[in-house]
Amino acid sequence: MSAQPSNTPLPRVVHRVAGQPYDGAPHGHAPVYDPAHGHVSAEVALASVADVDAGVRAAHAAFPAWSQTPPLRRARVMFRFKELIERDMDRLARVIVAEHGKVLSDARGELVRGLEVVEYACGIPELLKGEYTEQIANGIDAWTVRQALGVCAGITPFNFPAMVPMWMFPMAIACGNTFVLKPSERDPSLAVELASLLKEAGLPDGVFNVIHGDKVAVDALLDHPLVRAVSFVGSTPIAEYIYARGTANGKRVQALGGAKNHMVVMPDAELDKVADALIGAGYGAAGERCMAISVAVAVGDATADALVAKLKPRVEALRIGHGLDETVEMGPVVTGAHRDRITGYIDDGVASGAELVVDGRGHRVAGCEQGFFVGGTLFDRVTPDMRIYKEEIFGPVLCVVRVPDFGTALELVNAHEYGNGTSIFTRDGYIAREFGHRVQVGMVGINVPIPVPMAFHSFGGWKKSLMGDHHAHGPESVRFYTKQKAITQRWLNLTESVGAEFAMPTH
Ligand code: NAD
Repeated sequence: MSAQPSNTPLPRVVHRVAGQPYDGAPHGHAPVYDPAHGHVSAEVALASVADVDAGVRAAHAAFPAWSQTPPLRRARVMFRFKELIERDMDRLARVIVAEHGKVLSDARGELVRGLEVVEYACGIPELLKGEYTEQIANGIDAWTVRQALGVCAGITPFNFPAMVPMWMFPMAIACGNTFVLKPSERDPSLAVELASLLKEAGLPDGVFNVIHGDKVAVDALLDHPLVRAVSFVGSTPIAEYIYARGTANGKRVQALGGAKNHMVVMPDAELDKVADALIGAGYGAAGERCMAISVAVAVGDATADALVAKLKPRVEALRIGHGLDETVEMGPVVTGAHRDRITGYIDDGVASGAELVVDGRGHRVAGCEQGFFVGGTLFDRVTPDMRIYKEEIFGPVLCVVRVPDFGTALELVNAHEYGNGTSIFTRDGYIAREFGHRVQVGMVGINVPIPVPMAFHSFGGWKKSLMGDHHAHGPESVRFYTKQKAITQRWLNLTESVGAEFAMPTH
């Protein structure tokens, strides 16, 4: 928890290509911050086009042997990788805290959620089984197989440096592909740690590569002819760009974007439980989660008044500080620029007439005076025309919107351009069922605040929260990372004469 940078040169975070650290010829370096103290803790290489090419070529060279490795053996590598993550869980969680800022228990939590995808990938021999039909016509059988694509790329955001890459590469690799990961340049170190553990697990060199960088690296991946598929998670404007450029280049692309997740609070909801849920889902990880609840839709003024009365003292009492202090509930946000963006939204909310119930601007933490902290912030009487309602803030800012009835609440959720996650708290089964059925959002919680699907289901939003046809991890990821082939087979009876047929075969 050192507060002062030392005089020694900054550590450099470099790429990992073909199992080795790779300096390449970066076009520059970007600072990596210790967000709790606000100083630069390392610098990360920003890959040039040639560096990206080196990573992609290493992955391409590893593809023939890896794709021919039996699925059971690929699964065994995943199993050893799982054991190594469990062995190193605490150390890895500390790497996340150091660059992201989230609290240690939350960093462990994201590792566990990533680990669950690795566990799912261990079942790849079962998941790759195709379909078989005997005797589709006399003496003819047909079946389908799923085969790997080649080199797949992952481009990931800062907010889950472990979990989001692990939504992607365990499944891509288990399916027989090779992979190039371009992690966020804001917290790049965890990706390198994962590469080391994969190597220790016995993954052949070149199957998993890490290329750090910015737009130059991303564009080089999108344009590289050897990259067959791109998985992206990040903000919506970039997701739209990635989807357009990647698909224009003939690649498969899944691009998961931003969010504005609403929780509808019905008058019959148990408000103490709702307040618990909103505090965790709104302020956990300082609101830097794509499944954070950032809007509470209170049905009826009485519900809103009671809810705000319960939330206010709890938001004021949030324990904010260094993520390694185990008594702390909320750490800093990722950079000073992001803190300023969040406080700019709070200024905007005040200027547009929302009622600022708790103001998190200017929050200071003793011993971390230069850290990038924003206090918990609560707005009431937010209306749909305000920027703080329409746009993703991605900080510890919860907006309460008041609506008269369930129908208006549902229309509000459905009218929003984002459709990542939503939830409803109610004791009425009919309302809960109507909400689940009619809401235009990809992931829905009923009396569950953050409805993140488990690894054996798939994760993805609707509307501007996802571009592409396939969601992340789970069964959808097997479809995304493989192409299907249908084989029709007949063995001729050489004693029979067949002759040429000129009409379409019918059975
Ligand atoms: P971001 O869009 O700024 O960055 C994501 C990735 O894109 C990074 O690797 C970054 O280097 C790269 N990138 C940034 N600008 C680029 C550009 N102009 N051209 C090409 N590449 C570029 O996102 P972020 O700030 O790192 O992460 C937060 C965002 O991610 C939020 O919007 C959040 O909702 C979203 N997110 C979504 C999900 C989901 O599942 N839908 C999950 C996690 C995060």
